[in-house]
Amino acid sequence: VLYNFKKITVVPTAKDFINIMLSKTQRKTPTVVHKHYKISRIRSFYTRKVRYTQQNFNERLSMIIQEFPKLDNIHPFYADLMNILYDKDHYKLALGQLNQARHLIDNVGKDYVRLMKFGDSLYRCKMLKKAALGRMATIMKRQAPNLVYLEQVRQHLSRLPSIDPYTRTLILCGFPNVGKSSFLNKITRADVEVHSYAFTTKSLYVGHTDYKYLRWQVVDTPGVLDHPLEERNVIEMQAVTALAHLRAAILYFIDVSEQCGHSIAEQVKLYESIKPLFTNKPLLVVCNKVDVTPMDQLSEAGREALSIFEKNNVPLLSMSAVTDEGVMEVKQQACDTLLAYRIENKIQAKKVDSILNRLHVAL
Ligand code: GDP
Repeated sequence: VLYNFKKITVVPTAKDFINIMLSKTQRKTPTVVHKHYKISRIRSFYTRKVRYTQQNFNERLSMIIQEFPKLDNIHPFYADLMNILYDKDHYKLALGQLNQARHLIDNVGKDYVRLMKFGDSLYRCKMLKKAALGRMATIMKRQAPNLVYLEQVRQHLSRLPSIDPYTRTLILCGFPNVGKSSFLNKITRADVEVHSYAFTTKSLYVGHTDYKYLRWQVVDTPGVLDHPLEERNVIEMQAVTALAHLRAAILYFIDVSEQCGHSIAEQVKLYESIKPLFTNKPLLVVCNKVDVTPMDQLSEAGREALSIFEKNNVPLLSMSAVTDEGVMEVKQQACDTLLAYRIENKIQAKKVDSILNRLHVAL
C-alpha cells in the first residue's frame, strides 16, 4: 500500500472536535419537542440525538485512525523514517488510545439509548441526552494530547519530500563540495524538494529524472552521508539507515581536483567508512571535476588510492559537471546497473535488517 502522506485531513483539537460534533447534532437533528407529545415520540426525539452524536464521533475518529499510516504495513523505509521522526511507541499509543475512545463513545451511546427506554418524561429524557453527550465530550477531552501530537505528525508528514520507496533511486554521497548537487541539478527536472530531518540540521534533496521510460528519483544527502559513520549521533545514524531500505544505486562522488579540501586518499577513506551501509546495493564511484584534473594527470598518490576500486571491481566513472563531459554517461550507467541488479526482495530485506542490527549494536 502506498500511503499518500500529504493528504491526511487536519486533526482538530479536542475542544474543536467536541464543538464540531455537538453543533452538528444541533443543526442536523429536529429541534422542536413538546411536553404534550406522546412519550414514545419524546424518547425517539432524544434517542436520535444520542445516536447521531455517537455515530458522528465514531465516523470522525475512524477517519483519523484510517488515514494515519499503520507502521506495520507500510514500506520499511517509511516505517523506519517515521520511527525516527515521531517515535514508534508514542505514535502507536496515540492511535490506539483514539481507537479506545471510539469504543468508549460507542458504548456510552448504546447505554444511553437503552436507558432512554425508561425515560418517563421530557425532562428525564432530556437529562439522559445531556448526560450522554457530556460523557462523550469527557472521553474526547482526555484525547487532547493525542490529537495535538497527531496533528503535529500530520503537518510534518505533509512536508516530507515525496520519496517513493517503490521507485528506483540514485543516492548521491561523498564529501561536501565534490559536485553532488551540481550533478543532481544537471540530471533532474527543476522540481528538487528539500526536507529537513527533525532534530538535526540535515537535509535531504530529492529530484526526479526519466530513463528508459521509467521515473527515477535522485537523492542527495548533504550532511548525512558525507562524514565517517563513527562520527554520527544515533538520530543521524537512523536517518541514514532508512535510506538503506530503498531500491537504489549508490553514486560515491570523488573530487579528483581535490578542490573540495580533501585529498583523493581521504575521499577513498570516507568511501570505505560508509560502504557497509550499502552492501546490498550496487555502488559506482564517480570521479568529478575532470575539467580541472583530467584522469591521466592524477598525482601518484591519487592514482594509488583509486586503484582499490579496480581491485574490487567497483566501476569507476569520470565526469565534469562544468563541461557536462560524462554526465549523461554517469546517469545511464548508474540506472542500467540498478536495472540489472535484481535480488529477491526478501533476501534484500533480510540482509538490510542484519546489517542495520549490526550497526545499531555498534552504536
Ligand atoms: P556538493 O556539496 O557535493 O553538492 O557540491 P556542489 O555541487 O555544490 O559543488 C561544489 C563546488 O564545486 C561548486 O562551486 C561547483 O560549481 C563546483 N563544481 C561542481 N562540479 C564541478 C566540476 O565538474 N568542475 C569544476 N571545475 N567545478 C565543479
